[in-house]
Amino acid sequence: MRASSALSSRLPWPLGVLARLAYNYRWAWLADGPDVFRDVDPARWSACGRNPVRLLQETSAEALLRAAGNASLVARAEQLEAALIEDLARPAATDVADEEHPIAFFCAEYGLHVSLPIYAGGLGALAGDILKAASDRALPLVAVGLMYRHGYFRQRVDHTGWQQEYWVPTDPERSPAVLVTGGDDRTPLRIRVPIGADDVVAQVWRVNVGRVALFLLDTDVPENTRVTRWITTRLYDSDPETRLAQYVLLGCGGAAVLRALGITPSIVHMNEGHAAFAALEMTRPAVEQGADFAAAFEGVRQRTVFTTHTPVPAGNDSYPADQVRAALGPVAQSLGISGDEIVRLGRTRAEDEQEPFGVTQFALRASRAANGVSRRHGAVSREMWRVLWPDRAVDDVPIAHVTNGVHVPSWVGAPMRRLLDRHLGEGWTRHAADPATFEPIDAIAAAELWAVRWEQRRRLVDYVHDRSQLQRIARGEPREHVEASARAFDAGVLTIGFARRLATYKRLHLLLHDVQRSFGLLRGDRPVQLLVAGKAHPRDDGGKRLVQELFAVRAQQDAFERVVFLEDYNLGVAARLVGGCDVWINVPRPPLEASGTSGMKAAINGGLQLSVLDGWWAEGYDGANGWALSGDVDPDEAAQDAHHAGELYRLLESEVVPEFYERDEAGIPQAWTARIKRSMRTLIPAYSSVRMLSEYEERVYRER
Ligand SMILES: *Cc1c(COP(=O)(O)O)cnc(C)c1O
Repeated sequence: MRASSALSSRLPWPLGVLARLAYNYRWAWLADGPDVFRDVDPARWSACGRNPVRLLQETSAEALLRAAGNASLVARAEQLEAALIEDLARPAATDVADEEHPIAFFCAEYGLHVSLPIYAGGLGALAGDILKAASDRALPLVAVGLMYRHGYFRQRVDHTGWQQEYWVPTDPERSPAVLVTGGDDRTPLRIRVPIGADDVVAQVWRVNVGRVALFLLDTDVPENTRVTRWITTRLYDSDPETRLAQYVLLGCGGAAVLRALGITPSIVHMNEGHAAFAALEMTRPAVEQGADFAAAFEGVRQRTVFTTHTPVPAGNDSYPADQVRAALGPVAQSLGISGDEIVRLGRTRAEDEQEPFGVTQFALRASRAANGVSRRHGAVSREMWRVLWPDRAVDDVPIAHVTNGVHVPSWVGAPMRRLLDRHLGEGWTRHAADPATFEPIDAIAAAELWAVRWEQRRRLVDYVHDRSQLQRIARGEPREHVEASARAFDAGVLTIGFARRLATYKRLHLLLHDVQRSFGLLRGDRPVQLLVAGKAHPRDDGGKRLVQELFAVRAQQDAFERVVFLEDYNLGVAARLVGGCDVWINVPRPPLEASGTSGMKAAINGGLQLSVLDGWWAEGYDGANGWALSGDVDPDEAAQDAHHAGELYRLLESEVVPEFYERDEAGIPQAWTARIKRSMRTLIPAYSSVRMLSEYEERVYRER
């Protein structure tokens, strides 16, 4: 904890508690945590990107003195610390792992908080929620990832609607991260990983996530060349050679970090194929003790599990065999095998010289249990990978499913949290997997629930006014548009959200399929307003064109007032959107949605789903807890789009809009609030991370 003591030396003594809190993200999901840091200096908190370390480094001495003199603020901080200490002191609560032999979780990205930009999207948000849920559950787990110095790209959209990318450096010294030291002299730990001809050196940062330690490898050290320092610069770097080097570093380097720290995992969980090489490096102790590689690999396989997230064949990373032989040759040699043996483990048909190396195939061969992330995705994955088990019927392909869930305390808005605290009793988030926890929702007065929904929508609308006006001015939209949009975007209007990675299969274009009908919805007497956010991969021009089409329609149809594109989608923007939107639209092309999680986040806040029956919604929809479009697969994409767009317009026009605006004499939309209750009662227990983690424990981690 040297970093926190260095930090507290600049703080007036009553604030030392804040320096200790700053270095454990547990504050981020204690109810009063974010507000305590904000209240130190609200303007600075926002200017620092809600990063508590920067807040304490950069707040002026006067403001710090003022905070130190605020007895109630200090008392609130002390309460947070007491909760943290109590949380850390709980004994482990499982028999699948223990503190000496924890679960080791490997992932290329983690979305823990907006202040640590080492995530891109859904995979990272899920991994972040898993770490928080593991901490809440007292499940012994350590996590491994990479400290990206520039993270994922930031997004700006120009006046033509074209996405521009830029990167902002993160200084780990100004993050809630501490360098891991090793050996007797307490100097920073150094890990060496041979990648191709380079002997790559990495240092390791530790980020505390409640009870979970997250170790992040970082190659930006003076011993490395410019090229190898670059490895941990950008998340999902566009250069395939850099990407492969990242995966070798994550898997092999990550396993070496755990070994250097004396951590022998009971289970290795590779979250998506990027982490596959962890299984390779985990064989080293057995190989060094004389086992041959095949036996060592089988030993590792017995304690390795793998989660696949990619139902799109092209989304499963693959690399030419030569590239893999070159990158992994030295690691292979040190394990007594050839690079070719590794390549064969990553081919669907090992002997097919034409076939590239696939990380998913390798990960499937390296693990004793595998799972997809929704029931339907499990089935899609069994079909997709049955070629690896040619002797088995498709239903017997050993890929199960654990449907994703979300970390309720991280995603529930403050007004909704207060409402549920009142009606469900304190501690309800810990029992979020039990449907009985949510039974009292039925008895909440419709007016009370509606007031909370109104308040959360109003907060979103305020935020949108602020952000979108600045963004419109910056991209040079006419001033009268800027001003008109500020008037039109309204806290009383049915607010629809569409936010996700802007890949073409997510089909943002369905919302514009019939421009006149969209226009009718936006401009009717019972209007809707639409919020869109999301990033297209820098090399995905198809995805970028979707945003441009939206801009073109907006301009042409004079609908700019009620359609807002929020730039630079991230965890912070996501939290605002899922908190305030009344309807969450998700219309991916079936069966390409592995699960999706943002709709679950909306459900916690009383938002309703209008989604294709794919991913999680194929199992979540019960006929009355939202609305559904058919999930049929159709090879004729144009026909499928037309069909789905027709269903979407029909539902919006004849069900969603009337139900939202149909009010009783007290002004309450009774049918709407009844649907919200049903949605919350059925969906929160089924899609919380509490349920997800208990399924990982029982179905995946526990040997059967
Ligand atoms: C939850 C979340 C996602 C997941 O989006 P889906 O479209 O539901 O898969 C992506 N990005 C961010 C920032 C999120 O918070």
